[in-house]
Amino acid sequence: MTSNGTVLLIEDQDEIADLLRLYFEREGFRLVHATTGERGLARLEQGDVRAALLDIGLPGIDGVEVCRRIRDTSDMPVIMLTARDSEVDKIVGLEIGADDYVTKPFSPRELVARVKAVLRRSEERPVAPQTLEVAGFLVDSGRRQVTTPGGEIIRPTAREFDLLWYLGTHRGLALSRGQILEAVWGYDYFGETRTVDVHVRQLRRKLMDLPIETVWGVGYRIEG
Ligand code: CA
Repeated sequence: MTSNGTVLLIEDQDEIADLLRLYFEREGFRLVHATTGERGLARLEQGDVRAALLDIGLPGIDGVEVCRRIRDTSDMPVIMLTARDSEVDKIVGLEIGADDYVTKPFSPRELVARVKAVLRRSEERPVAPQTLEVAGFLVDSGRRQVTTPGGEIIRPTAREFDLLWYLGTHRGLALSRGQILEAVWGYDYFGETRTVDVHVRQLRRKLMDLPIETVWGVGYRIEG
C-alpha cells in the first residue's frame, strides 16, 4: 500500500534507510533512498516526491547545500536529519528554509508523524485567497507573498508564510510556542520548540520592520 505517495530520503547510512523504510511503508508511503545529494537531486527531477528527508553530513555536496538547491525550485516539505545539536545551529544560522529538523537518534515513529503533519499543513492552505495588512505590510495568501511598505515583494518559505499568516490572523494575542506548533506544523513537539524560534528569526530578518514581539515566558505576538 503506497497511497500516501513518495518520500525521498537522502542519507548515506543504509541502516537508517532500512529502518525508516519499514515505518514509512507501514503508514502507506513509498520511501525512496539516495545515498548522495547529487543522486537525491536527480531523483527529485522525476517530479513524484512529496517530501524530502535530508541528512546534513553527506559525501559530496552536504545537506545544507542540497536543501538550498531544492528551495531554488520547490516549496516541498524538507525535514533535516542532524547528527548533533550543533548542526541545528548551523541550519539555523544559514537559514536554508527547511521545514523541520530532527536530531539523531530520532524515533522513526515520530519522524513519520512529522512528515504526515507537514504534508497535511502544506495542503491545507486557505482556499479563498485573502490579504492581511500588518503595520503597512500586505500579506497575500493567494500569492503567498508579502509586500513591504516600500513596495518590495518578499516571498517567505512555505512554513514562514504559514507562521506569519497564523500570527497575523490572531493579532493582539500572545500565542504560546505550543499553540503555534500545533496550528502551523500540526503537532506538539513534546517540549521542543526551537523550530518556532528559528522561523520567527527568519521572518524578522526578511521583514525587518514587521512587529513580531517576543512575549517572555509565553511565545510571540503581532500587535493588533
Ligand atoms: Ca551522514
